Parts: sequence; C-alpha cells; structure tokens
Amino acid sequence: MIETDIDLQPHNTLAISARSAHFARVRSLDELREALVFARAKKLPILPLGGGSNIVLTGDFPGLVIQVDLRGLSLQAEANSHSIEAAAGENWHQLVMTTVNNGIGGLENLSLIPGKIGAAPIQNIGAYGVELCDRFMSLQAMEIATGELHDFGKDDCDFAYRDSVFKGRLRDQYIITQVNLQLPQEWLPRVDYPALQQYIVGHNWEIDSLTPIQVAQAVIDIRSSKLPLPDEIPNAGSFFKNPVVDTDLYQSLKAEHPDLVAYAAGEHWKLAAGWLIDRAGWRGLRRRAVGVHERQALVLINPGRGAGGELVQLAQDIAEDIHTKFGVYLEPEPRFYP
Ligand code: FAD
Ligand code: NAP
Repeated sequence: MIETDIDLQPHNTLAISARSAHFARVRSLDELREALVFARAKKLPILPLGGGSNIVLTGDFPGLVIQVDLRGLSLQAEANSHSIEAAAGENWHQLVMTTVNNGIGGLENLSLIPGKIGAAPIQNIGAYGVELCDRFMSLQAMEIATGELHDFGKDDCDFAYRDSVFKGRLRDQYIITQVNLQLPQEWLPRVDYPALQQYIVGHNWEIDSLTPIQVAQAVIDIRSSKLPLPDEIPNAGSFFKNPVVDTDLYQSLKAEHPDLVAYAAGEHWKLAAGWLIDRAGWRGLRRRAVGVHERQALVLINPGRGAGGELVQLAQDIAEDIHTKFGVYLEPEPRFYP
C-alpha cells in the first residue's frame, strides 16, 4: 500500500516537480489507520492530499503523503432541508452538479471549485458570496496521533474567511473523512456579485424565476472566461487572500486611488488583492517558468512547470511590492510544504 519516492507533479495543480519519500492512496478507514500507524512508527510528517489544488510544494516532502480516496455520497430530502453525507475523496464540483441537476439549490455559487470534499472545510471554501460554512452541518475526522474518529459540529470548526480550526489550532492533527451538509428546501439565489448580476441581465433572466442550475451555469461561464484551467496553465487559484484592513487605511487608500475595489466587511474593509497586484503592474508578468495570469492578477501560474522556489520568490516579491506601495500585507492562501 505504501509506495516510496513518488513524483508529486501529477498530484498538484501547480505542476510543481517534487518527490515524496512515501505515498499512500487510502480507500477505506482501515487503510487510513494503517497508513497512520506506518507514519507513526517511522516518525514521518504527514501531508493529507485531496486534489492538490491549494498546496505549494517548496521542495521534496520527507514524509508520507496520504491521498484520501474515500468514496460515498448520499442525498436525502428531509422536512425542511436536504441533507448530504459525502466522503472526503468525492469531487467537490461533481457534488455541486449532482445537487443542481436534481433541482436542489444552495451550492451553485461554489461551482467549478477544484478539489475534494475533504479539503473544503480546511479553508472554508467560498465564492460569489457563499461559503462552505453557510451549508455545513458537521464532519468526521481521524485524529492523526491516535487513529480515533471524532465528530466536529459547526461551532467546533471556527470557520472564518478562508479559514478554519484545521488551519489554526488543530493544524496537522486530523484527517477529514466525511463532510455533512444541509441545503435549504426554500431556495433563494445569491447573485449580488457584480459579475453574476451582469451575466443575468445580459441573458435577460428574471431574478424571480432563476433556478439553481442557471446560477451554476452563470458561475461556470464567468469562471471559465477568466480563470486558467490548471490542466492547461498550472495554478492554485487565488494565491493571496483578500486583505482585510481598518477604516483609516481604507479611507487613505481610497482617497489616493478612487477606483480601489473594496467591500465593507463588518467594521473593516476587504480589499480586492487582485486589484492591488494589477495596479502595482504585475498582471501578465512572466519570470522564467512562473508568472502572473494576464486576466486575473491574483492567480500565479507555473506554465514552465518550474520548481516551487521560483514561485515562492515571485510571491514574496509581489507581497513586498504591495506592502511598499499600499501599506497592506498579503497573506498566501495555499499551504506551503514541506
Ligand atoms: P489540496 O490542495 O489537496 O489540500 C489543501 C489543504 O487541505 C492541504 O493543507 C491538505 O493537507 C489539506 N487537506 C486536503 N484534504 C484533506 C483531508 N481529507 N483532511 C485533512 N486535510 C486535508 N478555493 C476557494 O475557496 N474558492 C474558489 O473559488 C477557488 N477557486 C479555485 C480555482 C482554481 C482554478 C484553483 C486551482 C483553486 C481554487 N480554489 C478555490 C482553491 C482550492 O480549489 C480549494 O481550496 C479546494 O478546497 C482544495 O481542494 P483539494 O482537494 O485540491 O485540496
Ligand atoms: P471578482 O468577481 O472579480 O471580485 C473581485 C473581488 O471582490 C473578489 O475577490 C471578491 O471577494 C470581491 N467582491 C466582489 N463582489 C463582492 C460583493 N458583492 N461583496 C463582497 N465582496 C465582493 O472576483 P474573481 O476573482 O472573479 O472571483 C470570483 C469569486 O470566486 C470570488 O468570490 C473569489 O473569492 C472566488 N475565487 C476564489 C479562488 C480561490 O482560489 N480562492 C479562485 C478563483 C475564484 P471574495 O474573494 O471574498 O469573494
């Protein structure tokens, strides 16, 4: 079951070439437990892997990569909701399509996000104003240290903007095995993002008679028109989180740059990181194997399939430049390994 010295290039959407000392694809809870026993005996660090669409490999991984390939999906209508139980290895976008094709709304704004269901809670995936936590009920995860299964309710997960307890206090302690969602019977479309509104107006669709599958189609079309497909141009989606700043900094930036793209976030302001990177002149830049996508400056690309170090250097240079020009710190969204 455990392979050694495996090339991770096919297992990360940035197509970074790096090797893993050990690699296991697990298809059952027993196999997962065995893999953990192996890692514990050899004192190996563990990298739980889904679709590899939110990781940056900065070098070879000296431990055990565990590709979580647990399968199973059930969808049940209840009195006021639809409940979903999905094993961690199921594909996220396919789950979204299964729901909208059955006329069930609630996940359509999250269409076309790459990766597996088990990774979705890690950064509380979000797009077009909807986050996983809006539909989340609970999850099951195996503790790495003991092999025991634990249940986590919504309050246990500390979900926040592209964040959860699994990126913070419980980082590297659990492998998610199953995620349970709840979708409302009474569906209301969430189409307040400008790109979605423009699409709907452009197609002469009436908001009152929209269906979940129409919203999914809109999201898929908009995303396909501006985001590079990882199979064609290797990338990990947004490389940086949108920075959230206080009102003073927002107001001084807005005075200096009236076209700044920013949205109120409680008492703070969320700045569009893509706008900052674009305005700083990085959009479309190529540097050896890596670069910044020409249609979306928030997406760093690896068309030359270079090493992780090149990409990390580019990201550092961008972040430093943004700090110098705007006084704002950019924080990477993907996780770096080792
Ligand atoms: P991986 O990259 O394999 O893993 C990501 C992290 O989760 C790693 O730290 C890994 O160790 C951990 N992990 C994975 N599976 C498990 C598990 N079962 N248990 C414990 N830890 C685990 N994200 C958004 O939020 N919104 C978007 O709109 C969006 N769009 C994207 C578009 C593109 C083109 C790309 C390439 C990425 C995009 N992303 C987006 C980022 C990414 O798709 C999501 O974060 C996704 O949830 C990652 O899933 P994955 O299976 O590929 O995770
Ligand atoms: P966009 O629609 O061009 O918008 C630019 C930024 O403005 C986005 O980052 C978004 O923040 C914010 N925004 C726009 N309208 C908003 C509103 N009404 N209220 C609050 N914030 C608003 O963004 P895009 O790059 O094409 O991406 C579209 C959506 O897909 C976004 O939600 C984005 O997060 C998501 N996406 C994520 C990834 C990833 O890897 N994480 C990759 C591609 C797309 P938010 O990002 O907070 O939504």
